[in-house]
Amino acid sequence: MKKVLLIATGGTIASGYTKEGLAPRIAAKDLLQYVEDYKAFCQVDILQPFSLDSTNIYAKHWLKLAELIEEQYAGYDGFVICHGTDTMAFTAAALSYLIQNSKKPVVITGSQKPINLPVTDARTNLLDSLRFASDDRAHGVNIVFGGNAIAGTRAKKERSKSYNAFSSINYPNMAALCDGKIVFYIDDKDRVTEPTVFYHKLNENVLLLKLMPGMDGSMLKRLFPCYDAVVIEAFGVGGLPEYGQVPFYEEIRRWTDAGKIVMMATQVTHEGSDMEVYKVGRIIKEDFHLMEAYDMTLEATVTKVMWALGQAKEQELSGQFRHLFYKTVNHDMLLYAPGSDGDRSVL
Ligand code: ASP
Repeated sequence: MKKVLLIATGGTIASGYTKEGLAPRIAAKDLLQYVEDYKAFCQVDILQPFSLDSTNIYAKHWLKLAELIEEQYAGYDGFVICHGTDTMAFTAAALSYLIQNSKKPVVITGSQKPINLPVTDARTNLLDSLRFASDDRAHGVNIVFGGNAIAGTRAKKERSKSYNAFSSINYPNMAALCDGKIVFYIDDKDRVTEPTVFYHKLNENVLLLKLMPGMDGSMLKRLFPCYDAVVIEAFGVGGLPEYGQVPFYEEIRRWTDAGKIVMMATQVTHEGSDMEVYKVGRIIKEDFHLMEAYDMTLEATVTKVMWALGQAKEQELSGQFRHLFYKTVNHDMLLYAPGSDGDRSVL
């Protein structure tokens, strides 16, 4: 019999109706009574470090979850985290960077409807997750939701109400779950050869700035004192506007001269950035040796910047950061990046 640790953190799956609206209030042990079929294949222990709408979950909670899993790692075959769907993709990406090369599965799940409603996706998602966490082929951080297992760095919430809320972006699903069976599309556990590593530091001083037509660099100028890194969600394959009173070009110079990170990404969900295609992107990339997120999700980009900044030593920030960021972790980046000096050996 497999041993699984269920870590409940709140979210819709555990929510009930209150006068103020839906809020988490179903205790972790009560979640399990709705999915009793799990007893056929695993034994479950429970932890409940907090009970929050995931709107209120951020870096300190990601670190807490990684710490709990590290403390309990030896005692279990797999881990299931129940979590709200709204920021689940950020938590899954953050945990992918905080817990690397895990041969045991860390599954994150939740639902669009509370578990105690007569019609709900919660019971299927939770039972599927316990099954996935008990499977010898599963490993690493994944979201299990709507019948799919998605690599923790590739998930995005694309639907606010439907049961198939999450998609795997620029990467195939890892597995499909149906009628108590798991079909692995990517069955690669034997490729995990490095030891499991837990990280304990994130630098939260990262800004995600979405461009809109008419925006110039004045926003970057004002935010300069507050952040160590900015991820810019550009249009299309990537570029920066050339108009305006405060040119982006000058602001990018200010940030990079100060040793801060400027990471280019795209606000287009599918297919990724490629700053070298258009003049509006290529010149600024070349002049400042800018990095870009290519086919990564924004959730993975932001949390990977936090993780890499947290590890890089200040004296050699840019070199170390570049190396850490361009190393593929939990399937997060596949596009060939010319001149990126990335290490693409670990997929
Ligand atoms: N607001 C909820 C949360 O993210 C939504 C959900 O769980 O589906 O906690």
